[in-house]
Amino acid sequence: MNTTLIIGIYLIALASQMAVVAYVAHLYFHSKAYRLACGFLALALVLMMSRRMVPFFSLHQNITVSGFDALLAALISIFMLLGFIQFKKLLLDLEYKNIAFDQSSKKDSLTGALSRSETFARAEIEIERSLRDGSQVSFLMLDIDHFKNVNDQYGHLIGDAVLVNLVKNCQQQLRVIDIFGRVGGEEFFAVLPGSSREEAHQAAERLRQSVAASVTSINQGQQISITISIGISTLNPHYVGEHDSGKILMFFFNQADIAMYRAKENGRNRIEIEG
Ligand code: GH3
Ligand code: MG
Ligand code: MG
Repeated sequence: MNTTLIIGIYLIALASQMAVVAYVAHLYFHSKAYRLACGFLALALVLMMSRRMVPFFSLHQNITVSGFDALLAALISIFMLLGFIQFKKLLLDLEYKNIAFDQSSKKDSLTGALSRSETFARAEIEIERSLRDGSQVSFLMLDIDHFKNVNDQYGHLIGDAVLVNLVKNCQQQLRVIDIFGRVGGEEFFAVLPGSSREEAHQAAERLRQSVAASVTSINQGQQISITISIGISTLNPHYVGEHDSGKILMFFFNQADIAMYRAKENGRNRIEIEG
C-alpha cells in the first residue's frame, strides 16, 4: 500500500475519533445524569486519539508504517463513532423519559390536578414555611355530593368528564400559590398558604358557588350539575407544639376531613370548619 493511501486511511481514523470525542463531550455538557461516565470516556478517547498521531510522527521520521494497521485503526474508529451515535441517542432518550416520568408522577393523569403524594409534599413545604415565618395556612377538603348517582345515571366516562371540569373550575378560582390535588376518587385537598380561617372560608365559598353554578354538557344538550361539601382546618403556628411537618399535615388533613363529613351530615353543598 502506498504511503499517501496509508496517510489517507489514518486521517479517516483520526477524523472519526475526533467525532467520537465531540459526541461524548456533547453528552458531558448536556446530560446531568451521566456526566461522570461521559467525562471519563471523553478523557480516555482524547488519550486514544493521541495514539492515532504516532504513525504521522513515524512517517515524518521515515519509519515505515503498516497499511493493515491503518485499515484496522480506521475501521475501529468508524465503528466506535457509529456505536457512540447510537449510545448518545439512547442516553438522551432515557433522560427525556425519566424527566417525563417524574413530571407525570406529580400530576393526576385524569384531571391534571396534583397527585396525592405531590400534594402532600408541597403541603409539608408550606407547613415548614409557616413554622418559620409564623404565617397561617388553611386546608380545604372537598368531596362531590352524591357523585355515585352521576356515575349510576350517566356512566363512568361522563363521571370522569365531570371530575375534569371540577378541577378546571377550582384551579381557576384559586391563586397561583395555592395547592390543589386529588387525594381520592372524588376527593380533593387544597392548601391555602398565608390564609386565615376567615380567608379560607371566603375561598371555600367561592369554590362552592362556582362548582354549583357550572355545568358539564353532554350529548343532546343535556347538562349535569354537581355540588361539593367542603371542610376547613387552619394551622396557626403560634398554637402548635409539634415541629414535625408530616405529623402536622396529617392532623390538619384529618381535621379538614372531619369538617367535610360534618358538612355532609348537615345537608351537603355547604362548608364546615373544624377546630
Ligand atoms: P357523598 O355525597 O356522601 O360523598 O356521596 P357520594 O356518592 O359522592 O360518595 P361515595 O363515596 O358513596 O361515592 C363516591 C363515588 O365516586 C363512587 C365512585 O364510583 C366514584 N368515583 C371515584 N373515583 C372515580 C373516578 O375516577 N371516576 C368516576 N367516574 N367516578 C369515580
Ligand atoms: Mg368521597
Ligand atoms: Mg362524594
